Amino acid sequence: MYDYLIVGAGFAGSVLAERLANQSNKKVLIIDKRNHIAGNAYDHYDDHGILVHKYGPHIFHTNSKEVFNYLSRFTEWRNYQHRVLANVDGQLLPIPINLNTINKLYGLNLNSTEVKEFFESKAEKKNEVLTSEDVVVSVVGRELYEKFFRGYTRKQWALDPSELHASVTARVPTRTNLDDRYFTDTFQAMPQHGYTRMFEKMLNHPNIHVMLNTDYRDVVGDLVFKELIFTGPIDEFFDYKYGKLPYRSIDFKFETLDQEVFQETGTINYPNDYAFTRITEFKHLTGQKHHKTSLVYEFPTAVGDPYYPIPKAENQAIYQKYHNLASKMKATHFVGRLATYKYYNMDQVVAQALTVYKKIINQEILVN
Ligand code: FAD
Ligand code: UDP
Repeated sequence: MYDYLIVGAGFAGSVLAERLANQSNKKVLIIDKRNHIAGNAYDHYDDHGILVHKYGPHIFHTNSKEVFNYLSRFTEWRNYQHRVLANVDGQLLPIPINLNTINKLYGLNLNSTEVKEFFESKAEKKNEVLTSEDVVVSVVGRELYEKFFRGYTRKQWALDPSELHASVTARVPTRTNLDDRYFTDTFQAMPQHGYTRMFEKMLNHPNIHVMLNTDYRDVVGDLVFKELIFTGPIDEFFDYKYGKLPYRSIDFKFETLDQEVFQETGTINYPNDYAFTRITEFKHLTGQKHHKTSLVYEFPTAVGDPYYPIPKAENQAIYQKYHNLASKMKATHFVGRLATYKYYNMDQVVAQALTVYKKIINQEILVN
Protein backbone atom coordinates (compact mmCIF):
# COMPACT_ATOMS: atom_id res chain seq x y z
CA MET A 1 0.00 0.00 0.00
CA TYR A 2 1.45 3.35 -1.05
CA ASP A 3 0.67 6.65 0.62
CA TYR A 4 0.96 8.41 -2.73
CA LEU A 5 0.67 7.39 -6.36
CA ILE A 6 2.37 10.07 -8.48
CA VAL A 7 1.66 10.11 -12.21
CA GLY A 8 4.52 11.67 -14.17
CA ALA A 9 8.24 11.77 -13.26
CA GLY A 10 8.94 15.30 -14.54
CA PHE A 11 9.69 18.26 -12.26
CA ALA A 12 6.18 18.36 -10.74
CA GLY A 13 6.04 14.66 -9.88
CA SER A 14 9.67 14.24 -8.86
CA VAL A 15 9.77 17.25 -6.51
CA LEU A 16 6.65 15.96 -4.75
CA ALA A 17 8.00 12.41 -4.58
CA GLU A 18 11.25 13.68 -3.05
CA ARG A 19 9.57 15.94 -0.50
CA LEU A 20 6.95 13.40 0.57
CA ALA A 21 9.50 10.59 0.95
CA ASN A 22 12.42 12.54 2.33
CA GLN A 23 10.71 15.09 4.49
CA SER A 24 7.50 13.30 5.51
CA ASN A 25 8.51 9.65 5.37
CA LYS A 26 5.69 8.73 2.96
CA LYS A 27 5.77 5.69 0.72
CA VAL A 28 5.57 6.83 -2.87
CA LEU A 29 5.05 5.07 -6.19
CA ILE A 30 5.93 7.33 -9.13
CA ILE A 31 5.01 6.13 -12.61
CA ASP A 32 5.68 7.47 -16.07
CA LYS A 33 4.48 6.19 -19.41
CA ARG A 34 7.84 7.07 -20.97
CA ASN A 35 10.93 4.90 -20.60
CA HIS A 36 12.78 7.53 -18.56
CA ILE A 37 12.44 9.96 -15.66
CA ALA A 38 12.85 13.79 -15.85
CA GLY A 39 9.80 14.49 -18.07
CA ASN A 40 10.47 17.07 -20.74
CA ALA A 41 13.73 18.06 -19.06
CA TYR A 42 15.23 14.64 -19.88
CA ASP A 43 18.76 14.73 -21.32
CA HIS A 44 21.02 11.91 -22.50
CA TYR A 45 24.20 11.24 -24.45
CA ASP A 46 23.43 10.70 -28.14
CA ASP A 47 25.12 8.11 -30.40
CA HIS A 48 28.10 10.45 -30.80
CA GLY A 49 28.56 10.94 -27.05
CA ILE A 50 27.16 14.46 -26.96
CA LEU A 51 24.75 15.48 -24.18
CA VAL A 52 21.42 16.52 -25.80
CA HIS A 53 17.95 17.42 -24.54
CA LYS A 54 15.44 15.02 -26.05
CA TYR A 55 12.51 17.46 -25.77
CA GLY A 56 14.21 20.65 -26.89
CA PRO A 57 16.65 23.05 -25.20
CA HIS A 58 16.12 23.49 -21.46
CA ILE A 59 17.88 26.42 -19.84
CA PHE A 60 17.44 26.86 -16.11
CA HIS A 61 16.79 30.36 -14.77
CA THR A 62 14.96 31.65 -11.72
CA ASN A 63 14.61 34.59 -9.35
CA SER A 64 13.58 32.26 -6.55
CA LYS A 65 16.28 31.55 -4.02
CA GLU A 66 14.06 28.87 -2.50
CA VAL A 67 13.81 26.99 -5.81
CA PHE A 68 17.51 27.36 -6.58
CA ASN A 69 18.57 26.22 -3.09
CA TYR A 70 16.16 23.30 -3.22
CA LEU A 71 17.51 21.98 -6.55
CA SER A 72 21.08 22.60 -5.39
CA ARG A 73 20.67 19.63 -3.03
CA PHE A 74 20.68 17.38 -6.08
CA THR A 75 23.16 18.96 -8.43
CA GLU A 76 26.15 21.18 -8.80
CA TRP A 77 25.77 23.91 -11.36
CA ARG A 78 27.60 25.28 -14.35
CA ASN A 79 27.12 29.03 -14.77
CA TYR A 80 25.49 29.68 -18.11
CA GLN A 81 23.82 32.80 -19.49
CA HIS A 82 21.79 32.01 -22.58
CA ARG A 83 22.17 34.24 -25.63
CA VAL A 84 19.97 34.15 -28.71
CA LEU A 85 20.33 35.74 -32.14
CA ALA A 86 17.49 36.21 -34.62
CA ASN A 87 18.06 35.76 -38.33
CA VAL A 88 16.35 38.87 -39.73
CA ASP A 89 16.90 40.55 -43.11
CA GLY A 90 20.02 38.42 -43.68
CA GLN A 91 21.65 39.51 -40.41
CA LEU A 92 22.08 37.80 -37.05
CA LEU A 93 20.70 40.24 -34.47
CA PRO A 94 20.33 40.06 -30.68
CA ILE A 95 16.90 39.04 -29.39
CA PRO A 96 15.41 40.30 -27.02
CA ILE A 97 15.60 43.47 -29.10
CA ASN A 98 18.22 45.77 -27.53
CA LEU A 99 20.27 48.82 -28.49
CA ASN A 100 22.61 46.77 -30.70
CA THR A 101 19.68 45.13 -32.50
CA ILE A 102 18.42 48.52 -33.67
CA ASN A 103 21.84 49.94 -34.52
CA LYS A 104 22.82 46.87 -36.57
CA LEU A 105 19.46 46.46 -38.27
CA TYR A 106 19.22 50.10 -39.41
CA GLY A 107 22.93 51.00 -39.59
CA LEU A 108 22.53 53.60 -36.81
CA ASN A 109 24.66 54.67 -33.89
CA LEU A 110 22.03 55.51 -31.27
CA ASN A 111 22.64 55.59 -27.53
CA SER A 112 20.18 54.33 -24.89
CA THR A 113 18.27 57.61 -24.66
CA GLU A 114 18.00 57.90 -28.43
CA VAL A 115 16.82 54.32 -28.88
CA LYS A 116 14.15 54.92 -26.25
CA GLU A 117 12.96 57.90 -28.31
CA PHE A 118 13.17 55.73 -31.45
CA PHE A 119 10.87 53.11 -29.88
CA GLU A 120 8.49 55.82 -28.66
CA SER A 121 8.26 57.29 -32.16
CA LYS A 122 7.33 53.86 -33.57
CA ALA A 123 5.11 52.55 -30.75
CA GLU A 124 1.35 52.35 -31.37
CA LYS A 125 -0.34 53.42 -28.17
CA LYS A 126 -3.06 51.02 -26.94
CA ASN A 127 -5.68 51.66 -24.29
CA GLU A 128 -5.46 48.05 -23.26
CA VAL A 129 -2.71 45.54 -23.91
CA LEU A 130 -4.63 42.31 -24.33
CA THR A 131 -2.97 40.26 -27.05
CA SER A 132 0.53 39.13 -27.99
CA GLU A 133 0.39 41.60 -30.88
CA ASP A 134 -0.50 44.51 -28.56
CA VAL A 135 2.44 43.76 -26.25
CA VAL A 136 5.02 44.22 -28.97
CA VAL A 137 3.38 46.83 -31.21
CA SER A 138 2.67 49.08 -28.21
CA VAL A 139 6.39 49.14 -27.33
CA VAL A 140 8.41 48.93 -30.58
CA GLY A 141 5.88 49.51 -33.35
CA ARG A 142 4.66 47.42 -36.26
CA GLU A 143 7.80 47.09 -38.35
CA LEU A 144 9.92 45.47 -35.64
CA TYR A 145 6.92 43.38 -34.61
CA GLU A 146 6.66 42.04 -38.14
CA LYS A 147 10.37 41.34 -38.44
CA PHE A 148 10.89 39.60 -35.09
CA PHE A 149 7.56 38.38 -33.72
CA ARG A 150 4.73 37.85 -36.18
CA GLY A 151 6.28 35.10 -38.29
CA TYR A 152 7.84 33.26 -35.35
CA THR A 153 4.60 33.31 -33.40
CA ARG A 154 2.50 32.13 -36.36
CA LYS A 155 4.88 29.21 -36.86
CA GLN A 156 5.10 28.33 -33.19
CA TRP A 157 1.38 28.51 -32.39
CA ALA A 158 -0.38 28.36 -35.78
CA LEU A 159 -2.17 31.48 -34.55
CA ASP A 160 -1.68 35.14 -35.27
CA PRO A 161 -0.25 37.01 -32.25
CA SER A 162 -3.51 38.99 -32.16
CA GLU A 163 -5.26 35.71 -31.20
CA LEU A 164 -2.89 34.85 -28.33
CA HIS A 165 -2.86 36.12 -24.77
CA ALA A 166 -0.43 38.98 -24.09
CA SER A 167 1.63 36.81 -21.73
CA VAL A 168 3.13 34.79 -24.60
CA THR A 169 5.22 37.44 -26.35
CA ALA A 170 5.59 39.31 -23.03
CA ARG A 171 8.08 36.55 -22.16
CA VAL A 172 10.51 38.35 -24.47
CA PRO A 173 11.18 41.92 -23.26
CA THR A 174 12.52 44.98 -25.14
CA ARG A 175 15.69 46.65 -23.89
CA THR A 176 17.28 50.02 -24.48
CA ASN A 177 20.68 48.91 -23.13
CA LEU A 178 23.28 46.48 -24.46
CA ASP A 179 22.25 43.49 -22.33
CA ASP A 180 22.05 40.63 -24.83
CA ARG A 181 21.20 37.83 -22.41
CA TYR A 182 17.95 36.00 -23.08
CA PHE A 183 17.10 35.98 -19.36
CA THR A 184 17.95 38.46 -16.60
CA ASP A 185 17.06 36.22 -13.62
CA THR A 186 19.29 36.23 -10.54
CA PHE A 187 20.10 32.52 -10.88
CA GLN A 188 21.03 31.21 -14.33
CA ALA A 189 22.82 27.89 -14.54
CA MET A 190 22.76 24.39 -15.99
CA PRO A 191 22.95 21.23 -13.89
CA GLN A 192 26.64 20.31 -14.05
CA HIS A 193 26.02 16.68 -14.99
CA GLY A 194 22.71 17.19 -16.75
CA TYR A 195 19.04 17.17 -15.76
CA THR A 196 18.58 13.40 -15.75
CA ARG A 197 21.39 12.94 -13.23
CA MET A 198 19.75 15.58 -11.02
CA PHE A 199 16.42 13.70 -11.17
CA GLU A 200 18.16 10.40 -10.37
CA LYS A 201 19.45 11.96 -7.16
CA MET A 202 16.01 13.38 -6.29
CA LEU A 203 14.32 10.03 -6.70
CA ASN A 204 17.05 7.98 -5.03
CA HIS A 205 15.28 7.22 -1.75
CA PRO A 206 14.22 3.91 -0.19
CA ASN A 207 10.60 5.15 0.09
CA ILE A 208 10.35 6.00 -3.62
CA HIS A 209 9.55 3.30 -6.11
CA VAL A 210 9.84 4.30 -9.78
CA MET A 211 7.90 2.44 -12.48
CA LEU A 212 8.56 3.41 -16.10
CA ASN A 213 6.76 2.42 -19.32
CA THR A 214 3.57 2.52 -17.27
CA ASP A 215 0.47 4.42 -18.33
CA TYR A 216 -1.70 5.49 -15.42
CA ARG A 217 -4.85 4.42 -17.23
CA ASP A 218 -3.60 0.84 -17.59
CA VAL A 219 -2.66 0.31 -13.94
CA VAL A 220 -4.78 2.58 -11.76
CA GLY A 221 -7.38 -0.16 -11.16
CA ASP A 222 -4.74 -2.53 -9.79
CA LEU A 223 -2.90 -0.17 -7.46
CA VAL A 224 -3.65 0.56 -3.83
CA PHE A 225 -2.79 4.07 -2.62
CA LYS A 226 -4.20 6.74 -0.30
CA GLU A 227 -3.74 9.86 -2.41
CA LEU A 228 -3.03 10.62 -6.04
CA ILE A 229 -0.82 13.32 -7.54
CA PHE A 230 -1.48 13.76 -11.26
CA THR A 231 0.91 15.70 -13.52
CA GLY A 232 -0.34 14.60 -16.96
CA PRO A 233 -2.89 16.49 -19.11
CA ILE A 234 -5.94 17.38 -17.02
CA ASP A 235 -8.42 16.90 -19.90
CA GLU A 236 -7.18 13.34 -20.39
CA PHE A 237 -7.66 12.63 -16.67
CA PHE A 238 -11.35 13.53 -16.97
CA ASP A 239 -11.79 11.58 -20.23
CA TYR A 240 -12.20 14.80 -22.22
CA LYS A 241 -15.60 15.35 -20.57
CA TYR A 242 -15.60 19.06 -21.50
CA GLY A 243 -13.72 18.58 -24.76
CA LYS A 244 -10.02 18.49 -25.64
CA LEU A 245 -7.70 21.18 -24.39
CA PRO A 246 -5.49 22.27 -27.27
CA TYR A 247 -1.74 21.80 -26.83
CA ARG A 248 1.00 22.70 -29.26
CA SER A 249 3.58 20.06 -30.11
CA ILE A 250 7.05 20.13 -31.69
CA ASP A 251 8.92 17.77 -33.98
CA PHE A 252 12.53 17.79 -32.84
CA LYS A 253 15.02 17.01 -35.60
CA PHE A 254 18.51 16.24 -34.31
CA GLU A 255 21.66 16.50 -36.36
CA THR A 256 25.31 15.87 -35.55
CA LEU A 257 28.03 17.59 -37.55
CA ASP A 258 31.65 16.60 -37.96
CA GLN A 259 32.86 20.02 -36.84
CA GLU A 260 33.49 21.54 -33.47
CA VAL A 261 31.18 24.57 -33.64
CA PHE A 262 28.16 25.33 -35.82
CA GLN A 263 26.81 28.69 -34.61
CA GLU A 264 27.99 31.52 -32.40
CA THR A 265 25.27 31.34 -29.72
CA GLY A 266 23.31 28.54 -28.04
CA THR A 267 20.19 29.32 -30.05
CA ILE A 268 19.46 31.10 -33.31
CA ASN A 269 15.84 32.00 -34.07
CA TYR A 270 14.41 32.03 -37.59
CA PRO A 271 11.28 34.18 -37.36
CA ASN A 272 10.62 34.56 -41.07
CA ASP A 273 12.23 31.77 -43.06
CA TYR A 274 12.00 27.97 -42.95
CA ALA A 275 9.43 25.76 -41.23
CA PHE A 276 11.49 25.52 -38.04
CA THR A 277 11.52 28.25 -35.39
CA ARG A 278 15.02 27.85 -33.97
CA ILE A 279 18.25 25.86 -33.99
CA THR A 280 20.01 25.08 -30.72
CA GLU A 281 23.58 23.82 -30.44
CA PHE A 282 23.81 21.88 -27.19
CA LYS A 283 27.51 22.27 -26.45
CA HIS A 284 26.99 26.00 -25.78
CA LEU A 285 24.46 25.08 -23.06
CA THR A 286 26.33 22.18 -21.50
CA GLY A 287 29.91 23.36 -21.93
CA GLN A 288 30.89 19.92 -23.24
CA LYS A 289 34.12 19.68 -25.23
CA HIS A 290 33.86 17.38 -28.27
CA HIS A 291 35.22 17.37 -31.81
CA LYS A 292 31.66 16.98 -33.17
CA THR A 293 28.56 19.05 -32.40
CA SER A 294 24.85 18.17 -32.06
CA LEU A 295 21.99 20.48 -32.96
CA VAL A 296 18.22 20.40 -32.67
CA TYR A 297 15.78 22.03 -35.08
CA GLU A 298 12.27 22.71 -33.75
CA PHE A 299 9.34 22.23 -36.13
CA PRO A 300 6.07 23.21 -34.41
CA THR A 301 3.09 20.96 -35.12
CA ALA A 302 -0.49 20.36 -33.99
CA VAL A 303 -0.09 16.61 -33.51
CA GLY A 304 2.25 14.80 -31.14
CA ASP A 305 3.09 14.95 -27.45
CA PRO A 306 1.42 17.88 -25.64
CA TYR A 307 4.24 20.36 -24.96
CA TYR A 308 2.70 23.83 -24.82
CA PRO A 309 -0.67 24.82 -23.32
CA ILE A 310 -2.07 27.51 -25.65
CA PRO A 311 -2.79 30.74 -23.72
CA LYS A 312 -6.08 31.93 -25.16
CA ALA A 313 -9.34 32.95 -23.43
CA GLU A 314 -11.49 30.14 -24.86
CA ASN A 315 -8.94 27.49 -23.81
CA GLN A 316 -8.75 29.00 -20.34
CA ALA A 317 -12.55 28.71 -20.12
CA ILE A 318 -12.38 24.96 -20.87
CA TYR A 319 -9.54 24.54 -18.38
CA GLN A 320 -11.58 26.35 -15.72
CA LYS A 321 -14.29 23.70 -16.00
CA TYR A 322 -11.77 20.92 -15.47
CA HIS A 323 -10.20 22.88 -12.63
CA ASN A 324 -13.59 23.18 -10.91
CA LEU A 325 -13.98 19.40 -11.05
CA ALA A 326 -10.41 18.89 -9.86
CA SER A 327 -10.77 21.21 -6.87
CA LYS A 328 -13.63 19.06 -5.52
CA MET A 329 -11.36 16.00 -5.34
CA LYS A 330 -9.75 16.16 -1.92
CA ALA A 331 -7.40 13.17 -2.28
CA THR A 332 -6.22 13.99 -5.81
CA HIS A 333 -3.81 16.84 -6.53
CA PHE A 334 -3.14 18.33 -9.96
CA VAL A 335 0.33 19.80 -10.41
CA GLY A 336 2.57 20.95 -13.29
CA ARG A 337 2.39 22.41 -16.76
CA LEU A 338 -0.12 19.94 -18.22
CA ALA A 339 -2.29 19.32 -15.17
CA THR A 340 -2.78 23.04 -14.48
CA TYR A 341 -2.66 24.05 -18.16
CA LYS A 342 -0.10 26.80 -17.55
CA TYR A 343 2.79 27.90 -19.76
CA TYR A 344 5.23 27.42 -16.88
CA ASN A 345 9.02 27.33 -16.92
CA MET A 346 10.82 24.65 -14.92
CA ASP A 347 11.37 26.87 -11.88
CA GLN A 348 7.70 27.81 -11.76
CA VAL A 349 6.75 24.13 -11.76
CA VAL A 350 9.23 23.45 -8.93
CA ALA A 351 7.76 26.37 -6.96
CA GLN A 352 4.23 25.12 -7.59
CA ALA A 353 5.17 21.59 -6.47
CA LEU A 354 6.83 22.88 -3.28
CA THR A 355 3.67 24.88 -2.51
CA VAL A 356 1.44 21.85 -3.09
CA TYR A 357 3.68 19.78 -0.82
CA LYS A 358 3.29 22.32 2.01
CA LYS A 359 -0.48 22.42 1.46
CA ILE A 360 -0.78 18.63 1.57
CA ILE A 361 1.24 18.36 4.76
CA ASN A 362 -0.57 21.25 6.48
CA GLN A 363 -3.89 19.63 5.56
CA GLU A 364 -2.72 16.36 7.09
CA ILE A 365 -1.70 18.13 10.31
CA LEU A 366 -5.16 19.75 10.50
CA VAL A 367 -6.98 16.44 9.95
CA ASN A 368 -4.93 14.46 12.52
P1 FAD B 1 6.49 17.15 -17.80
O1 FAD B 1 7.95 17.36 -17.77
O2 FAD B 1 5.75 17.18 -19.09
O3 FAD B 1 6.16 15.79 -17.02
C1 FAD B 1 4.91 15.15 -17.08
C2 FAD B 1 5.17 13.66 -17.19
O4 FAD B 1 3.92 12.97 -17.05
C3 FAD B 1 5.75 13.25 -18.53
O5 FAD B 1 7.00 12.61 -18.34
C4 FAD B 1 4.70 12.30 -19.11
O6 FAD B 1 5.27 11.20 -19.80
C5 FAD B 1 3.97 11.82 -17.86
N1 FAD B 1 2.59 11.39 -18.12
C6 FAD B 1 1.62 12.09 -18.77
N2 FAD B 1 0.50 11.35 -18.83
C7 FAD B 1 0.77 10.17 -18.22
C8 FAD B 1 0.01 8.97 -17.99
N3 FAD B 1 -1.27 8.85 -18.39
N4 FAD B 1 0.60 7.94 -17.35
C9 FAD B 1 1.91 8.03 -16.94
N5 FAD B 1 2.67 9.13 -17.14
C10 FAD B 1 2.10 10.18 -17.77
N6 FAD B 1 11.49 25.59 -19.06
C11 FAD B 1 12.52 26.36 -18.60
O7 FAD B 1 12.53 26.74 -17.43
N7 FAD B 1 13.56 26.69 -19.44
C12 FAD B 1 13.62 26.30 -20.74
O8 FAD B 1 14.58 26.61 -21.45
C13 FAD B 1 12.54 25.50 -21.24
N8 FAD B 1 12.55 25.09 -22.52
C14 FAD B 1 11.53 24.33 -23.00
C15 FAD B 1 11.56 23.93 -24.32
C16 FAD B 1 10.54 23.14 -24.83
C17 FAD B 1 10.57 22.73 -26.27
C18 FAD B 1 9.46 22.74 -23.98
C19 FAD B 1 8.34 21.89 -24.51
C20 FAD B 1 9.42 23.15 -22.66
C21 FAD B 1 10.45 23.94 -22.15
N9 FAD B 1 10.45 24.37 -20.81
C22 FAD B 1 11.48 25.15 -20.35
C23 FAD B 1 9.34 24.03 -19.89
C24 FAD B 1 9.63 22.75 -19.08
O9 FAD B 1 9.77 21.65 -19.95
C25 FAD B 1 8.45 22.52 -18.12
O10 FAD B 1 8.22 23.64 -17.31
C26 FAD B 1 8.65 21.33 -17.20
O11 FAD B 1 9.32 20.26 -17.80
C27 FAD B 1 7.27 20.87 -16.74
O12 FAD B 1 7.37 19.82 -15.81
P2 FAD B 1 6.08 18.95 -15.50
O13 FAD B 1 6.48 17.95 -14.48
O14 FAD B 1 4.92 19.82 -15.23
O15 FAD B 1 5.70 18.24 -16.88
N1 UDP C 1 8.86 34.97 -29.90
C1 UDP C 1 8.95 35.55 -31.14
N2 UDP C 1 10.18 35.72 -31.71
C2 UDP C 1 11.31 35.33 -31.11
C3 UDP C 1 11.24 34.73 -29.84
C4 UDP C 1 9.99 34.55 -29.25
O1 UDP C 1 7.92 35.88 -31.74
O2 UDP C 1 12.40 35.50 -31.69
C5 UDP C 1 7.52 34.80 -29.28
C6 UDP C 1 6.85 33.51 -29.75
O3 UDP C 1 5.46 33.69 -29.75
C7 UDP C 1 7.27 32.54 -28.66
C8 UDP C 1 7.14 33.44 -27.43
O4 UDP C 1 7.62 34.72 -27.87
O5 UDP C 1 6.43 31.42 -28.61
C9 UDP C 1 7.90 32.99 -26.22
O6 UDP C 1 9.27 32.79 -26.56
P1 UDP C 1 10.20 31.83 -25.69
O7 UDP C 1 11.56 31.90 -26.27
O8 UDP C 1 10.02 32.16 -24.27
O9 UDP C 1 9.54 30.40 -25.99
P2 UDP C 1 9.86 28.93 -25.43
O10 UDP C 1 11.33 28.89 -25.11
O11 UDP C 1 8.96 28.73 -24.26
O12 UDP C 1 9.49 28.05 -26.59
